[in-house]
Amino acid sequence: MNPPGDLSYILNHLGEERGQYANAVVPPIWQSSLYAAPTVAAMRAAIADELDQHFYTRGNNPTVAILRRKLAALEGAEDALLFGSGAAAVAAGVLASVRAGDHVLGVQKPYAWTRTLLQRMLPRLGVKTSLVDARDPAVVAAALRPETRLIVLESPNSMTFEQQDLGAIAALARARGIRTLADNSYATPLGQSPLALGIDMVVHSGTKYLSGHADAMVGALCASKAIVREVFEGPYMTLGAVLSPHDAWLVLRGLRTLPLRLERMAATAGRVVDFLAAHRRVRRVYYPQAADYPQPELTKRQLRHANGLLSIDLDTDIAGVERFCDGLKRFLMAASWGGYESLAFPVCGVRDWRGHEHELSVPVSLVRLSIGLEEPEVLIADLAQALDRI
Ligand SMILES: *Cc1c(COP(=O)(O)O)cnc(C)c1O
Repeated sequence: MNPPGDLSYILNHLGEERGQYANAVVPPIWQSSLYAAPTVAAMRAAIADELDQHFYTRGNNPTVAILRRKLAALEGAEDALLFGSGAAAVAAGVLASVRAGDHVLGVQKPYAWTRTLLQRMLPRLGVKTSLVDARDPAVVAAALRPETRLIVLESPNSMTFEQQDLGAIAALARARGIRTLADNSYATPLGQSPLALGIDMVVHSGTKYLSGHADAMVGALCASKAIVREVFEGPYMTLGAVLSPHDAWLVLRGLRTLPLRLERMAATAGRVVDFLAAHRRVRRVYYPQAADYPQPELTKRQLRHANGLLSIDLDTDIAGVERFCDGLKRFLMAASWGGYESLAFPVCGVRDWRGHEHELSVPVSLVRLSIGLEEPEVLIADLAQALDRI
């Protein structure tokens, strides 16, 4: 569970062969879809190893390859693959691991499109799925079937931050020959190392903290060389949801400041959480480091640091939630998270939930806040004036 040893070496230098491009400090964007072979023999060799040679950019691109090496190193993985979105990385990891007749176990409150993949797409391919309350490894163990092939985890999840004991679940899966996948978007590789705990595949929505500037969509899958090759030869190359060289370059740039951004966001979020927890209009603050968080021992054991994402349950009705959100001036109202800018995402904004609250896995009065890089006082003042409007 140690953080990557020489973090600044990985972020600043690993994979960057400056001597090959005029000693430029920043690598170029290799904006080319294809590579010409000097001889037929060279072409044959390139096609035989599309993952590591240069033949076609859907398979390998030098700018994307730099990011690939860095993310693998950050996760302590043998290799990694980059995708055009986090959703593509999740889907590729899952699709490479199952076939008709298999069973997949997932967590109860996954990211929305992971839920759609597991509950709606997989059954059409003859794969059965069940989503269980995975906070207790015994519940996971009891839900396994002889045909279970994959366990899909997300710890913490991204609305209510429930955690799973990754080491315990990895151990019981390995004992039965079941593969495990963990979505590590929330913690980032700096905050948690699922592979070191025995998980087989780590996936990321790098659209969030890794890129950090709300300007790129990116997904990553980190695993052993054998699993990466399996995913590459399956969904990676056939579905083709790959990262563009330009977006890879933006993420390389974003990664340089990841430790600094997380440090600042965590410090600000701590102050915001203290303010909100003491406010009469806030029923509950959801945050792994909050005083009343229900799984403090997992926070202590699995998470190396806090970050800037939290949710609040407001003590009001939907109209009150709308008055609060409509009244925010510095928080932008948007769905994603992890960028430089603070965001508010009200669950009731997804559609009109009046009368349908029971269909939701989270309270309809929940508002997720992504804390950005603004001055903490500015954010707290904005929240205070918006809470007064309830
Ligand atoms: C956003 C998100 C995803 C999907 O990532 P995209 O980059 O938006 O496709 C997957 N998992 C979690 C936890 C997320 O927050």
